[in-house]
Amino acid sequence: MTTNAGTATPAALLDQARRDYAALQSQRLSLDLTRGKPSPAQLDLAADLLSLPGDRYTAADDTDCRNYGGALGLTQLREMFSPFLHVPVDRLMAMGNSSLELMHDCLVHAFLGSTLPGAARRWADEERVAFLCPVPGYDRHFALCERFGIEMIPVPLTDDGPDMAVVADLVRSDPGIKGIWCVPKYSNPDGTCYSDETVRRLATMPTAAEDFRIFWDNAYAVHHLTDEETDVADILTACADAGHPDRAFVFGSTSKITFAGAGVAFFGSSAANVAWLRHYSGKRSIGPDKMNQLRHALFLQDTEGVRRHMRRHRAILRPKFDTVNRVFAEQLDGTGLATWTRPKGGYFIVLSVLQGCAREVVRLAAEAGIALTPAGATHPGGEDPQDSVIRISPSYPGLDDLQRIAHGVAVCVRVAGYEKLAARRA
Ligand code: PMP
Repeated sequence: MTTNAGTATPAALLDQARRDYAALQSQRLSLDLTRGKPSPAQLDLAADLLSLPGDRYTAADDTDCRNYGGALGLTQLREMFSPFLHVPVDRLMAMGNSSLELMHDCLVHAFLGSTLPGAARRWADEERVAFLCPVPGYDRHFALCERFGIEMIPVPLTDDGPDMAVVADLVRSDPGIKGIWCVPKYSNPDGTCYSDETVRRLATMPTAAEDFRIFWDNAYAVHHLTDEETDVADILTACADAGHPDRAFVFGSTSKITFAGAGVAFFGSSAANVAWLRHYSGKRSIGPDKMNQLRHALFLQDTEGVRRHMRRHRAILRPKFDTVNRVFAEQLDGTGLATWTRPKGGYFIVLSVLQGCAREVVRLAAEAGIALTPAGATHPGGEDPQDSVIRISPSYPGLDDLQRIAHGVAVCVRVAGYEKLAARRA
């Protein structure tokens, strides 16, 4: 197989791509790249959790974790994650197994509870509730909006985070815009890290809605793939300094640190917002699972322990990202058919193909036995207006499978891309 993109005629390039695709189909692959799950090797890194806390049940502050109580979660675990999430310990809650659940609950309580700090009325009593959705973004954020009938307004992501000129303009004039989804570090899916200036502008911008909230989903706070260990500015302090102390809700979890879906989730915000959530979460549950929190505290030990553990993840993940990058470069460099991100952390690569080709690439891949995240999933309503963004999740497959997958995806990109170019010429 050779791509010969520089010298061959367009017809020859298409023929070659089709031959490569036939060869791909003959391999009868059955590979799945749909979701960004940790691999079994990554989960094995936390195997000690399975035998913790052993016969221990007392936390460092003598809390008996077997019993009810401790609505904010274990202090020692909150202390451990406070520096990573940039939330003071007294305003950081360690809760259940899922940060997505906390985002869901914040929406439920904003709609149905008594008012959010700063709100004139419940969101259920508003004529219209809209959220800004930086795109490409995380499909489960969009699914939450759909669930609650929240109108989604896409805004473009730049290398520095959401396009702040667009964001500032929209929120200044539209009181129906109540929030924005932000994945500030190594964002899902395109790996963007918000610049200090973006954080400053998010904190300071005037908003028509007095109860505007930034849903700051810091899911990849410690998930570095390089030595750089990017930090993103402290949104809570920036908001407080700007006179908007209640503007940001910070979320995080250990889902991609220990066990996905069996970790510990965090919520941090202003004192008023924490009291607000605590009031409602206290109705929903008498308290979090402190035994799981103790298990995590004993396993991770301290802030340096978290860093050490994440370096082990990186040793597994980095070669996978490098493999995808290498195979894409071998097959696609110089073709003009695609570009892709080389993220410094997080779980995803965004492959951008020629306009109008993403769905076709995903279809071709499925027919060759490679399941990809549906094209459009990165956009509200599943509609990518350019039909060009494909989310690649390299974490789960082994290196050999990943090489096959990246090769197969690149073949599909070449078939779809050269067919599109041929159709344009026809
Ligand atoms: N937010 C983002 C941006 C994610 O990528 C994920 C996991 N894919 C989650 C939240 C889910 O986190 P949790 O398991 O804590 O609900």
